[in-house]
Amino acid sequence: MKRAIVMGGSYGGLFAARVLSDHFDDVVVMEPDVVGADGLGRRAPQRHQLHALLSMGHTQLERWFPGITDELVRSGARLGAGTDVQFYLDGRLKAPVAGARMLGATRPFLESHLRRRVLAIPNVRISQTRATGLVFRAGGVVGVKASTPDTEDGCEGGETVDAAFVVDAMGRNSPLEDWLVRHGWSKAPVDGMRIDLGYATAAFRRGDELGSTVIAHSSPGPASDYLPTSTEPGALAAVEGDRWSVVLAGYADHRPGPDREEFLRRMRRCVAPIRRVADLCEMIGEVRTYRFLESRRRVHSRLTRFPSGLAVVGDALASVNPVYGQGLTLASLEANALNAYLRSAPSLRDPAWDYFRLAEAVVNSAWQLSTAADLAQPHVSGPYPRGYRAQKWVADRLTEASVRDAAVNARYMGVVNMELRPKALTDVRFLARAARVLLSS
Ligand SMILES: Cc1cc2nc3c(=O)[nH]c(=O)nc-3n(C[C@H](O)[C@H](O)[C@H](O)COP(=O)(O)OP(=O)(O)OC[C@H]3O[C@@H](n4cnc5c(N)ncnc54)[C@H](O)[C@@H]3O)c2cc1C
Repeated sequence: MKRAIVMGGSYGGLFAARVLSDHFDDVVVMEPDVVGADGLGRRAPQRHQLHALLSMGHTQLERWFPGITDELVRSGARLGAGTDVQFYLDGRLKAPVAGARMLGATRPFLESHLRRRVLAIPNVRISQTRATGLVFRAGGVVGVKASTPDTEDGCEGGETVDAAFVVDAMGRNSPLEDWLVRHGWSKAPVDGMRIDLGYATAAFRRGDELGSTVIAHSSPGPASDYLPTSTEPGALAAVEGDRWSVVLAGYADHRPGPDREEFLRRMRRCVAPIRRVADLCEMIGEVRTYRFLESRRRVHSRLTRFPSGLAVVGDALASVNPVYGQGLTLASLEANALNAYLRSAPSLRDPAWDYFRLAEAVVNSAWQLSTAADLAQPHVSGPYPRGYRAQKWVADRLTEASVRDAAVNARYMGVVNMELRPKALTDVRFLARAARVLLSS
């Protein structure tokens, strides 16, 4: 096979490029952003926010980039296990999950290591260009139009680069759908849920105020009706550069703002580790905010026509409520789906339906979990799935049992960490154990 092009060189695009390098002679990643030494870039402003990598995402990272965990830790990231990783629900600390590990690192740091590893692959190169359109022939995509970043936005000019396969990794606001419509194709049907979430992240100097803690995460649960009445939702991570990264989140009128004093006041209403950082550590720099209005996924399998030679990954495919930390893990699992599809030696003259089916199965698990949890928020107005009330009743009880029992928590967190499908929570023996836990305490 010849050339593959990935449009977008952020986390999703880099993972896709790694996979494509096993299947194509030449892989070009088109990315207009010059990501500087700070690793931030301009077009993915969510990079400023604290990013947690779920266990499954970490497993995939190490699978595709062996040794990267050691490399990250040697450069200053922290790796937590056992009691270093603390999850609080309604202010109560949950039992640690045996064997679970979590990285403490900022998103730019993680991504810069990923980029370095991808750039070291001999048949991958990153081109500082903006994709401006697609070239179609005989029902398929055969190339990408590209311009240098300083030419006008959205122009369909520039050079044309031929490709046997093209991947859209241009993020949540990908222009792909507009390009498709312009050439007579339909947009993929979209599922959406308006959640109106606000995020704010700040950095603090890190000493030994929290011992070996790497992650502390706190969220409201059934006891507080999922509202921030007893404790504020938030999280901290010990990250490279001897810093704490602290994030606060809130919905609708409770969105956190950029004011430093208000951020500190709010941290003091969080669980103990976050309060302690507010009291003992110096805040560095400004508070960065981000507003996330809607979870959204595109469902290509509901289309009847789609051009061949084209796939979509990362946020361009699905972008879900970030409080559940699923985005990076989803991008890596979609890259796995791409690998499985390409290994099946498909005809690239046919649409990549098999890829979309595999990727959508992964997205579906994340979507089920995040939207079911979001529907517990009073300001979220649906759409409600059939049987929602009964599902919520069971989910509330399971969540409560996960605080009281380590075995229930292990499976519960397995689903949260995307190591298990949500279906794992419907196993009869598991449900019976959760019921016994609730009845006996
Ligand atoms: C506030 C917030 C917090 C989050 N926290 C977490 C978390 O804790 N854990 C987690 O796993 N996920 C988290 N996420 C989700 C995560 O950020 C995304 O899932 C992830 O960034 C998706 O990567 P991507 O490569 O698909 O898209 P993006 O990271 O958005 O990158 C898109 C890339 O496409 C490029 N691009 C755009 N247009 C063009 C073009 N025309 N041509 C070529 N390139 C183009 C951009 O420059 C950019 O580099 C969070 C998201 C938000 C909003």
